[in-house]
Amino acid sequence: MAIRNSMANLLIGIDVGGTNIKIGCFDTRLKLLKKTSITTDANTGPQAVVKKMLTAIDDLVRESSFTLSDISAAGIGTPGPADYKAGIIINSTNMPAFKNVPIRQMLSGGLHCPVVFDNDANVACFGEFVAGAGKGVTDMVFFTLGTGIGAGIVSEGKLLRGISGNAAELGHTIIYPDGRLCNCGQKGCVEAYASASNTAKRATEAVEAGEKSSLKKVLDKNGQITSKDVYDHLKTGDKLAKKITDETAKALAILCINTLHATEPQRIVFAGGMIAAGDILLNRIKDYFNQQIWKLKKETIEICFATLGEDAGIIGAAALAKNQ
Ligand SMILES: [Zn+2]
Repeated sequence: MAIRNSMANLLIGIDVGGTNIKIGCFDTRLKLLKKTSITTDANTGPQAVVKKMLTAIDDLVRESSFTLSDISAAGIGTPGPADYKAGIIINSTNMPAFKNVPIRQMLSGGLHCPVVFDNDANVACFGEFVAGAGKGVTDMVFFTLGTGIGAGIVSEGKLLRGISGNAAELGHTIIYPDGRLCNCGQKGCVEAYASASNTAKRATEAVEAGEKSSLKKVLDKNGQITSKDVYDHLKTGDKLAKKITDETAKALAILCINTLHATEPQRIVFAGGMIAAGDILLNRIKDYFNQQIWKLKKETIEICFATLGEDAGIIGAAALAKNQ
């Protein structure tokens, strides 16, 4: 389906998460006109969720003084795995009711315009590429540190997708053979060490195993340790928090090196809740990177944090819709 020519040429960007769905309405230059967030309520099933999405989009364009017929294209990002080329969500850990859902067709039928469908990390990656930390480069790699590690690769200005759109699953790069078991079934994935959840989990395991730390009080009081707790206690000089952070930073640095050798990006961008740790984490990643990287040639790659925050997904989805 070709991009529809409407008076306004509005672009819609949709970012689906397990808890919330964020939707943005953009003009043709990707300027955000209005955005909204609705609860996903994935257990109500795909039909009900898509219906709710369409109602929210209708409200959003009306509030911007337009109608649905002013939309020229839409983009949507969802967690994988999916057959992105066929437009079908195959399965989702956070949305068990979503099995073999032809999401692209359902949306384009409701909006009467073409819809692009991609992985949530790819969409956020593309958002940062066009409007955030990737501005001004042609080759960029993006990592988002959350429950898992999502990733996206932009090469020569384009997202790298692979044969079914599931390329760039770099969180499942094995960095320590026979290492920690990952949720995916492999052992030693970088995600099993350095995601926000696994950083917190390694801290919890160490405290439970009897290592001395000011984090013990947190565990006793809250029943759990978060990655934020780890960085808070790092700042107050806790030795275990430093050890856990160092291991996370080292795993991420190895990931950066392996990625550099695969795609030679100009910039590697980290996103997700864990970047709130700030320079204390970023500088450790850079230290390990410089320590471990080959010496055959000098690398000038920049490693930095994302700048768009939660809007990266809707911006990227709208940008992909524009570029289709
Ligand atoms: Zn894995």
